[in-house]
Amino acid sequence: MTVAVYAGSFDPITNGHIDIAKRAAAIFEKVVIGIYDRPSAKNFLFSSKERVDMAKKSLSHIPNITVQAYSGLTVEFCKTVGARLMVRGLRASADFEYEFEIAMMNHKLSPDLELVCFMANLQYQFLSSSILKEVTQLGGSIDSLVPAHVAKALKERLGGQA
Ligand code: ADP
Repeated sequence: MTVAVYAGSFDPITNGHIDIAKRAAAIFEKVVIGIYDRPSAKNFLFSSKERVDMAKKSLSHIPNITVQAYSGLTVEFCKTVGARLMVRGLRASADFEYEFEIAMMNHKLSPDLELVCFMANLQYQFLSSSILKEVTQLGGSIDSLVPAHVAKALKERLGGQA
């Protein structure tokens, strides 16, 4: 079975992430969404349980996608779930150098693990979890960028008026 891991912070999951996950699930037999739990290094808005629950709710209609939290090296997580492929999403300008760096390091750590990058769709090129948080905080509308339950959670947490 071809198992692929799509790992990230997903703080919170956006329509851009969902688009990549769906496209990966159309190609690979199983896609495991790995939600990175790194409490000390990153200031997450949502706990790993909240991020997992939001991702599960957003992707529950796709039977070959599962969601779980992990900590430690992503390459180790891939081994644990039996994945030989890692999926990432690339936005036009923001992601390439960073993704390239991680890919080179992951290849060094685990040469058998292959990386598959999906180009972000045009409508999500400028969508990031951090911009979403800022817009929510300032009361802007985020309804077309995240599922309704994620928009609700963001507004509750950040107190936006949109
Ligand atoms: P990380 O903490 O690893 O950067 P993110 O949750 O920000 O985690 O992103 C996870 C993956 O999804 C990364 O490969 C990132 O480039 C990709 N991604 C983020 N936003 C989008 C988007 N709007 N469209 C497509 N891919 C995206």
